[in-house]
Amino acid sequence: MVHNYSAGPCILPQEVFKEAAEAVLDFNGLGLSILEISHRSPSFVAVMDEARSLVRQALDVPDDYEVLFLQGGASLGFYISAINYMKQGGKGAYIDTGSWSNKAIKEAKRLGEVDVIGSSESANYNFIPKDFVVPNDADYLHFTSNNTIFGTQFKNLLKTEIPLICDMSSDIFSREINVSDYDLIYAGAQKNLGPAGATLYIFKKDRIGHTGRDIPAMMDLGIHSKKDSMYNTPPVYSTYVSMLTLRWLLKNGGVSWISEINQNKADLLYNEIDRNPLFKGTAAKEDRSNMNACFVLNNDEHKEAFDKLWNDANISGIKGHRSVGGYRASIYNALPLSSVEVLVNCMKELENKI
Ligand code: PMP
Repeated sequence: MVHNYSAGPCILPQEVFKEAAEAVLDFNGLGLSILEISHRSPSFVAVMDEARSLVRQALDVPDDYEVLFLQGGASLGFYISAINYMKQGGKGAYIDTGSWSNKAIKEAKRLGEVDVIGSSESANYNFIPKDFVVPNDADYLHFTSNNTIFGTQFKNLLKTEIPLICDMSSDIFSREINVSDYDLIYAGAQKNLGPAGATLYIFKKDRIGHTGRDIPAMMDLGIHSKKDSMYNTPPVYSTYVSMLTLRWLLKNGGVSWISEINQNKADLLYNEIDRNPLFKGTAAKEDRSNMNACFVLNNDEHKEAFDKLWNDANISGIKGHRSVGGYRASIYNALPLSSVEVLVNCMKELENKI
């Protein structure tokens, strides 16, 4: 068994992979592959309906919110969020917590004024800014709940008077949230939801269509909503596998169940990072992500020995991102606690060897 710590695309439940593989050959006993049926066929419409409805169940989405599975990745979400919420001549407020929020800021600047009200750039994004003031005159506030690259996470989720937009790509479905605090949540599927290809949008319906902008159809959340997520061919396979992952999540106890397991995994790993004199975490303790744990060796001389230990233990995908270095252990929903135990044992073994 490989212990897959990849940052995304990443591990999904084994039972989901099995069912998804079967559906490629024969979907629901139709004698046809999920990949060759029309997205307008009753069989696929049922998949789309169930996927959207399971998102509602998992996050307790209020009735006046829409749930869509669209294409384009969260990177298109940077622009889609701005163009659907920033009024002509208006402005967006942003919290800059790393590469992804930075990209969101760049896209919004194409459309108008951007007010960066907090940033941790000067500290290589190793903490979450806290003393910012949300401007009342901005059309919205945008933030990234979990910073996949730098391993920081908003522990106290925001609540604002102005519309709140969140890129939740790397921690959606990992902990409980209150959807009604947000106007828009968007997330690429390829962490806790499914394979790359689908991007999930959850938004308050009556807040769409008030910017005075001419929005291209593929970026217009209102058009996608009117067409029930089928304005064009949706990302069929990614939506299907997302549906299977959501079934797995809900069958086992939903977001409250997984959030406890995620906390246990994070505690186990961070306790060892803090206890073991050979290692050091890179993010400020109070802001450390429960999804991506970033850490370095205190002495690079031990790199070869440590890399051999985790390689021999069948661990994969823990090399750190180039902007932080060291190691990044992504401990998404489908990664079992037992895999974290294997990594922690490698860290202990290194200490014993030295
Ligand atoms: N936001 C966050 C927090 C991410 O981790 C990523 C990378 N998966 C993105 C945005 C960009 O996502 P995509 O590759 O789907 O465009």
